[in-house]
Amino acid sequence: MSATVIDGKQVAQQVRSELRAEIEEWMAAGGRQPGLATILVGDDPASAVYVANKQRGSAEVGIEGFAHELPASSTQEEVEALLHELNGDPRVSGILLQLPTPSHIDGTHLTTLIDPAKDVDGLTPVSAGLLAKGLPGLRPCTPAGVMELLRRYDVGLTGAEAVVVGRSDLVGKPVAALLLAEHATVTICHSRTRALDEVCRRADVLVAAVGRAEMVQGDWVKPGATVIDVGINRTDSGLVGDVEFESASQRAALITPVPGGVGPMTIAMLLRNTLLAARAQAD
Ligand code: NAP
Repeated sequence: MSATVIDGKQVAQQVRSELRAEIEEWMAAGGRQPGLATILVGDDPASAVYVANKQRGSAEVGIEGFAHELPASSTQEEVEALLHELNGDPRVSGILLQLPTPSHIDGTHLTTLIDPAKDVDGLTPVSAGLLAKGLPGLRPCTPAGVMELLRRYDVGLTGAEAVVVGRSDLVGKPVAALLLAEHATVTICHSRTRALDEVCRRADVLVAAVGRAEMVQGDWVKPGATVIDVGINRTDSGLVGDVEFESASQRAALITPVPGGVGPMTIAMLLRNTLLAARAQAD
C-alpha cells in the first residue's frame, strides 16, 4: 500500500481563503475588524520570523495587526503592563506572546495574564481547563490544525483507536483531548511508555509529537492507519518529522509529510481563533 499524502499546505490555503471571505462578511454586517496583537521580547531571529509570518498571515485575511517588539532588556513589569493594556484594548481581539521569552522574563507566568477571551494561542490555564471539561473555548493552534486535517480528509474518529505520542501542554495533551471529544479511544504515550511500538501498532490514528527525528518506524504503523506527524526536526539532511516517512507511507492509508503537513496549519488556526475571539467578544 502507498499512502495518500495529506496536503497541509493546500488545506491551510483553503482555510485562509475561507477566513478572508468570512471576515469580509463579518465586517460588511457591521462587525468590528478582528485585531491580532503580537508581543516579541528580545531579538531571537527564529522568533522574529515566526511573528513576522503571523502578522503577514493576518494582513492577508483582513485582520488588523498590532506588532509589539520589546527590547531584550525589558523587565517583567514592562511586559505585564503591555499585556494589561492589550487586554483592555477593544481593537485587539487576540493576543499572542511569542515564546520563549528571554530567561529573566517568566513567559509561563505572563501567559496566565492574557485575558482568556483573547487567548488565540489557546495556552492559558483557563483555555486548557475549558478544553479538558469539553466546554467552548479557544483551542491551541497546532492541535486544532491536526483536527482540521483529519476532518477535511474525512478520517472517522468515533470509536477509533487513537494513539498520541507526546504529552506536552502545547501539542500532546490538547490533541488527545480533542480526539477524545470526537469520541476516539485515546492512548497518550510519553518517554516512560513501555513497548511503545506495540502501542502504536494499535492505532487507527497515530499522532507523533515528540521532537525526535524519525523515531516512529514504518513497522509501528497499523496497515491502513492515518499517521499525523507533528514533529519538526532539523537534521543534516534537512527538515524531517518524528515518523520515518518512506516506510510508514508503505503501510498507512493517509500520512502527513514534513514539511507541508501539520506545519502550515498552525498559523491558519491562529487566524481562525482571532476571528472566533472577535465574534465572541461582540456577543
Ligand atoms: P516537548 O514539549 O519536548 O514534548 C515532547 C514529548 O515527547 C514529551 O511528552 C516526551 O515525554 C515525549 N518523548 C520524548 N522522548 C520520547 C520517547 N523516546 N518515547 C516516547 N515519548 C517521548 O515537544 P512539543 O512542544 O510537544 O513538540 C513536539 C514536536 O512537535 C517537536 O518536534 C516540535 O518542534 C513540533 N511542533 C510542531 C509544531 C507545528 O507547527 N507543526 C508546533 C509545535 C511543536 P515526557 O513527557 O515523558 O518527557
